[in-house]
Amino acid sequence: MRAIRRDVLALQAYHLEEPPSPVKINQNEAPWDWPREMKERTLAQLASLPFHRYPPYRESALTAPLARRFGLSPGSVLVANGSNQLLQALFLACLGPRRKALIPEPTFSLYRQLALLCHGRAVGVPLGGDYRYDPEALLEAVRRERPRVVLVCSPNNPTGSVLSPREVLRLCEATEALVVVDEAYGEFAEGEGAAALLRGGPNNLAVLRTFSKAWGAAALRLGYLLASPPVAKEVAKALLPYGVSPLTAALGGAALREEGLFRERVLRIRALREDLHRNLAAIPGLRVFPSAGNFLLVKLGPRAREVYRRLKERGVLVRDVSSSPGLEGCLRFTVGSAEENAALLSALREVWP
Ligand code: PMP
Repeated sequence: MRAIRRDVLALQAYHLEEPPSPVKINQNEAPWDWPREMKERTLAQLASLPFHRYPPYRESALTAPLARRFGLSPGSVLVANGSNQLLQALFLACLGPRRKALIPEPTFSLYRQLALLCHGRAVGVPLGGDYRYDPEALLEAVRRERPRVVLVCSPNNPTGSVLSPREVLRLCEATEALVVVDEAYGEFAEGEGAAALLRGGPNNLAVLRTFSKAWGAAALRLGYLLASPPVAKEVAKALLPYGVSPLTAALGGAALREEGLFRERVLRIRALREDLHRNLAAIPGLRVFPSAGNFLLVKLGPRAREVYRRLKERGVLVRDVSSSPGLEGCLRFTVGSAEENAALLSALREVWP
């Protein structure tokens, strides 16, 4: 064990292990799998791939369609095994001893861990009232901390808060740091998000997106980065060669060809989110925060953990975030199908207040 770095020994591993549950609304996944026929058609095509050959050095089948989708050049797109891997590559390229990354607080817990593993330091910038982004506080922190990376999660996990593209642009203009916008949940928010800024916009912006949420493909492990070609070129150096299996890339291509299906599902989730928000807010004693993601953060107070446990006993698995700093008393509910949301509400009414 003496071989292991002290800061790594002190680290809590990112970990989530829960038993299977009839209603699984703890990981912000899509409630619906891909249609069987679409899976079978795509898997049949995979049989013609030459398994004995290395794939392209850098994933290429998905790069062009993604670039077209966002009106960018292919040099602006990097594909990897999940957007988390691209974040790691960004941190490896930008962070080091005494190099800081600003992150919102509270946010996705992996950011802090990845920054540390990449020898950097994450500095939290508290969100404002109702967990809204506070653009002035971010600008002030940029001036004070002189970070190399400013990471914005929009919509933010687990609060659902959004930083508008206008404010992202202001941030880019106020700093030489690389501004990274994690839009893992971007499809569930209004508008095109920060990617629109990349067309002729700032050079110090990178946008992360994933197939894990709106595209219903968390199992595929597929994410992408959009940035100016010079930035993408440098980040690519921190990715492993042949990093994306051509099987995964082909499946991602199939998803892009069925964009209409996933777009329609996103609209359904948004409508279900508004219904669930209304129904939860009508339960006395619960505080529901506005969310642009496929999840809702709900404040229950000191009984949050007990409610989480009792929901689990009733077959409804949600995320207990109540032990994270700034999220005391809160649970996070993924927006599920209409049936799953109804099951949540009915179980909740049994255990609350
Ligand atoms: N970013 C955020 C904010 C997330 O919540 C998650 C999933 N929990 C990810 C990224 C992970 O994305 P991927 O599956 O593409 O690695």
